[in-house]
Amino acid sequence: MSETVPPPNAERRPTRITSQALVQVADCRRRLWLANHTRTPMAPLPEHVVVLRERAREHERAVADRFTDLAGPFWKHDGPLSEVAAETLHLLRETRRPIWRGALLSADGRRVAHPGFLSWEGDSLIVTEARLALRPDARADFALQLAHVRDLLFETAGLVPARFDIVNGEGETLVVEPATDARYASVVRAVDATLAEPEEPTELRAYSNCRRCPYYDHCWDMAERDRRIELLPEVQIAHVPEYHALGVHTLADLVTLDPERLPAGPVRGAAKHAIVVASAWIENRAAWLQPPLLPKGPLVWFDLEGDSLGEKAENPIYLWGLALELPGEAPVAEAIVAEMGADGDREAWERFVARAVAILDQHPDARFVHWDAFEPLWIERYALKLGAPDGFVKRMKSACHDLKRVLDRCVRLPLRSYSIKHVAPWMGFEWRNPESGSEWSVAQFHRARETDDPVERERLVTALVEYNEDDLWAMRAVWRWLAEHAPRGA
Ligand code: SF4
Repeated sequence: MSETVPPPNAERRPTRITSQALVQVADCRRRLWLANHTRTPMAPLPEHVVVLRERAREHERAVADRFTDLAGPFWKHDGPLSEVAAETLHLLRETRRPIWRGALLSADGRRVAHPGFLSWEGDSLIVTEARLALRPDARADFALQLAHVRDLLFETAGLVPARFDIVNGEGETLVVEPATDARYASVVRAVDATLAEPEEPTELRAYSNCRRCPYYDHCWDMAERDRRIELLPEVQIAHVPEYHALGVHTLADLVTLDPERLPAGPVRGAAKHAIVVASAWIENRAAWLQPPLLPKGPLVWFDLEGDSLGEKAENPIYLWGLALELPGEAPVAEAIVAEMGADGDREAWERFVARAVAILDQHPDARFVHWDAFEPLWIERYALKLGAPDGFVKRMKSACHDLKRVLDRCVRLPLRSYSIKHVAPWMGFEWRNPESGSEWSVAQFHRARETDDPVERERLVTALVEYNEDDLWAMRAVWRWLAEHAPRGA
């Protein structure tokens, strides 16, 4: 259980409106409030975030190499903010040197920006940012951050930039339009209003938004303690006001709700499921909707490890994991790990195709059991990109069997999420490495790719393979649980 939030008059850190605050207020007001007003423990940064930050810093350093006679970088530890802001102003007014991560501080000291690079083309001031995103021009949060820089440049130095550039993750320079003055002003007001709230906002974002947030434990443990309806995947955040309007805030309220009181349509349909799930939560049990459909015959436990950069990655799928289980025999896991680079990607795909074809030739009724839509989707993408034997995709698509879909249709569980990482542990399964997860796996792969030490690489790849094996056994555990616990007569 996380530490409780101190009362409003407890020690507070000084609050400033930063580029980050502008983005946070649109994302989650509660997160902004927590970051500024409490000492609520934050979860350590997940490994993939650390890797992403390293990549972002590396990208920024590469962009810095484009400038000559660069002043900076100025960071927080280079002295008090007011001194860095004064130095930035001096460089802007008295020189034409490009500035790396200077500080722009408003006269009242409340707003601060650290623009990536400020440089000159003749008498024209150019603002340049380095971002890993491939389409930064489509990002409203970047446009807002640029408007913040524009506003502070004008207030502090009376300068209006001629252009705003963003160098994307592929090194292309894109001209980006900042948000309008009106939009910027309204977001600044929203930040001010949130920071002025005496109590922690109670809103809870959807699980998919929260699970990467450093305040996840704080908010979700609190929601679980209070038995809030937002815990249930069946209660969409957009529908919460409809429930609240009927006085339904907790799971106990929900089980007594007559769904006919909700507006007809998706809200009412979802509420019928949510009521079943609420009772499962209250009693910490499974609530069956119907018996599961579990085909007999040879099974292939099937799980892919993919890069979060998707098709932009050199190895979008870096590990093809499978384990053939014949009736009455123990399954054996096999992992096809891609070597780095395009050749490695193709070679791993071809090995996977050959193995899958061999299994299907020998066991035409084999089912490739996977979790959710990821595996069939990537088979299709790879076949399009690198080719496959005639009929392979069709054959695989009919062999694929989505276990999550089976679970969704037949049973409700007292869980925040129906990710395999929640479902399998509830049924008693444990991963050998409790720190592992899909993002951990991506980070391991990137570390393996970056290290020059073959022993270290081997160690990282072995850990990856073990993790993938456990993913396969987790699905097997869910399958067996469904088979054993299905209602009698199934
Ligand atoms: S866990 Fe969710 S609700 Fe809590 S601060 Fe983070 S995003 Fe907001």
